Amino acid sequence: MPVMEMVDILILGTGPAGGTAAIYAARADFKTAVLSGPMPGGQLTTTSMVENFPGFPDGIPGPQFARLVEDQARRFGAEFLFDIITRVDLAQPPFGLFSEEKEYRCRALIISTGSSPRRLGLPAEREFAGRGVSYCATCDGRFFQNKVVAVVGGGDSAAEEASYLARLASKVYVIHRRDEFRAGPLLQQRLRGNPKIELRLNSVVADLTGDDAGLKQAVLRDTRTGGSSSLALDGLFIAIGHTPNSALFKDWLDLDEQGYIVADKRTRTRVPGVFAAGDVADPYYRQAVTAAGTACVAAIEAARYLASVAT
Ligand code: NAP
Repeated sequence: MPVMEMVDILILGTGPAGGTAAIYAARADFKTAVLSGPMPGGQLTTTSMVENFPGFPDGIPGPQFARLVEDQARRFGAEFLFDIITRVDLAQPPFGLFSEEKEYRCRALIISTGSSPRRLGLPAEREFAGRGVSYCATCDGRFFQNKVVAVVGGGDSAAEEASYLARLASKVYVIHRRDEFRAGPLLQQRLRGNPKIELRLNSVVADLTGDDAGLKQAVLRDTRTGGSSSLALDGLFIAIGHTPNSALFKDWLDLDEQGYIVADKRTRTRVPGVFAAGDVADPYYRQAVTAAGTACVAAIEAARYLASVAT
């Protein structure tokens, strides 16, 4: 297996976390490479418009934002590579990352592989993604001002997203497959006390229909009776949890019960020299700006670590 030239800091995963880590690492004059996997640019590339990242008063399309971050990192000498890593070796530095054809080695590793929103698994879900179907109310809620939307899920995220959307939309349905919520009592209270929110319990989304302009309707199935009903909608927010992209690291790092990489406030994992930034280590905030913030911390910590092992 050919060995790639070793780098000082390897960043696994693009997106706002990987890109920011690359800007800081390369600008500090470390030989830096970013390896992007199956979804270069990360989740932002599926967001139509980023309106809450400071510095873009008119908003910026997600894919364009991802490109700008990458260009900025390249300007300082970061190299961007595409490969699918299937195995890692974190026993000791230089750490190894292996694809089918290549081996990558680094003195410090920043993991920014992100998380993936869980999907309902309907064929129509993909068809209407970005045209009515969204996985992030904070990102896309404003496009549904005074419109009718629904949130799928019964956990804290669904409850928070529904309350957030109720400030913008004219009506918010919450579609949950059971009649009991997983969300905490306070969040549930907010749901039930909001006149704009209507609960559709014991219901699942069986299909979505629409036209060229986007989503128009959800077909619901009652989980007790099996009966169907339809709901006219402009937007559907799916909030049924996220899966952190951490499987590669399960034998090497501590993961919490949901699979998020356990890292301290300084983004340090159990293995010295290995740092985790962005959504792969963050079950709560999941924002581009928080991912970028933790990635900045990770790059500074990686630089400190390299300085400490060099002396
Ligand atoms: P979660 O707690 O795992 O809840 C997922 C919800 O989606 C559950 O109600 C589940 O239904 C439903 N669901 C899962 N798969 C489904 C499917 N295929 N079809 C329909 N419904 C489905 O996820 P989360 O709400 O994203 O929260 C994740 C973690 O972050 C939790 O620990 C949560 O406490 C935390 N969090 C905290 C806050 C806060 O404290 N403010 C905010 C957000 C998240 P069932 O209930 O039937 O399983």
